[in-house]
Amino acid sequence: MSVAVRFAPSPTGLLHVGNVRLALVNWLFARKAGGSFLLRLDDTDEERSKPEYAEGIERDLTWLGLTWDRFARESDRYGRYDEVAAALKASGRLYPCYETPEELNLKRASLVSQGRPPIYDRAALRLSDADRARLESEGRKPHWRFKLEHTPVEWTDLVRGPVHFEGAALSDPVLIREDGRPLYTLTSVVDDADLAITHVIRGEDHVANTAVQIQIFEAVGGAVPVFAHLPLLTDAAGQGLSKRLGSLSVASLREEEGIEPMALASLLAKLGTSDAIEPRLTLDELVAEFDIAKVSRATPKFDPEELLRLNARILHLLPFERVAGELAALGLADADAVFWEAVRPNLSRVAEARDWWAVTHAPVAPAADDPAFLAEAAALLPEEPWDLSTWGTWTGAVKAKTGRKGKDLFLPLRRALTGRDHGPELKNLLPLIGRTRAQKRLAGETA
Ligand code: GLU
Repeated sequence: MSVAVRFAPSPTGLLHVGNVRLALVNWLFARKAGGSFLLRLDDTDEERSKPEYAEGIERDLTWLGLTWDRFARESDRYGRYDEVAAALKASGRLYPCYETPEELNLKRASLVSQGRPPIYDRAALRLSDADRARLESEGRKPHWRFKLEHTPVEWTDLVRGPVHFEGAALSDPVLIREDGRPLYTLTSVVDDADLAITHVIRGEDHVANTAVQIQIFEAVGGAVPVFAHLPLLTDAAGQGLSKRLGSLSVASLREEEGIEPMALASLLAKLGTSDAIEPRLTLDELVAEFDIAKVSRATPKFDPEELLRLNARILHLLPFERVAGELAALGLADADAVFWEAVRPNLSRVAEARDWWAVTHAPVAPAADDPAFLAEAAALLPEEPWDLSTWGTWTGAVKAKTGRKGKDLFLPLRRALTGRDHGPELKNLLPLIGRTRAQKRLAGETA
């Protein structure tokens, strides 16, 4: 049987680093095993699901290169969920309940005050036909609970190892709402069974759902998949990421922070694993290194500073072809590989290339604070054509003529030629600046 995994976000918000890490791990798992990756939109919450969020999810995954082999949308499958619900009702595994949310809250509060776990008491199972008829005549509509077997539920989790739950310690879950809508706990199982999902890899916030869902798989006659529950990412202080979802959305990392897709992938593939975090330029390298057994149970911390440092390391390695589109989008359509290779060692974000483009191709007000020396240097500028050896030849001549060396020689030249104290190697910048500009800047003119 071939491996089939799925990433099943609800399109109720932007994907953030925590969600997309699960997408990546599923994708890497599928690629490593030669299996398939399904994108499933869990959009049965019609009040909160929005088409723009669904589009955002697809855009984010595409940007990262996480292509999907199959696609499903839960809202296309209501007929199928109704069919499964009808069968579960017929077999007595789904039973109607009439408590209002207030009544359920009271029951829970009373159990908790007695120091007992707030497990649903199955009062609805004791209703007679006459009781139900009376409740319905009062205008109450039932929601439907799944009757759990009070037996142990066990599985071997690929991250957590052996997991054990007692069925009797769990509340019978509501699978159908009062308005007839099926809930995630059911729809997810029906989809995983129908779409032959072999491995469910998701966050550890779903561990208790898994105990319940294993029983639902058995009740609907579906093959129970293998489960892996990953610890959820926290921020550097160990807090959940939920408070910072906006700033840690994939869209804002891409559009506001200027993060490269492979920087995010290189970090998220390794965070919380036994592997060191290193820049990788292709997903194939991450596939080769991936092994779910390397995922630890310890809570991984996501640090935006670490991501930015990795982004810089990636940029220092990326060839021009990989950034040409981004440079063009920044208005640098004329940038070429020579320019890129000159400036990339100084970038943390591609957008910073604009500053160096301005230095090499637009008027710069030089910091020409040593005019006599600069005039001597200007007189020694070689004739064009210039290449990578021009800087060495020229400064050699300036050194011989003026007796200056080291910082006294180089810093005034850098400040005059670029208007700054730091930057890419001048050997690379000088041919881009060109003789006409260089001469004017050395003379203190804005050029
Ligand atoms: N839509 C669910 C969520 O986003 C999917 C969980 C699962 O992977 O089963 O939490």
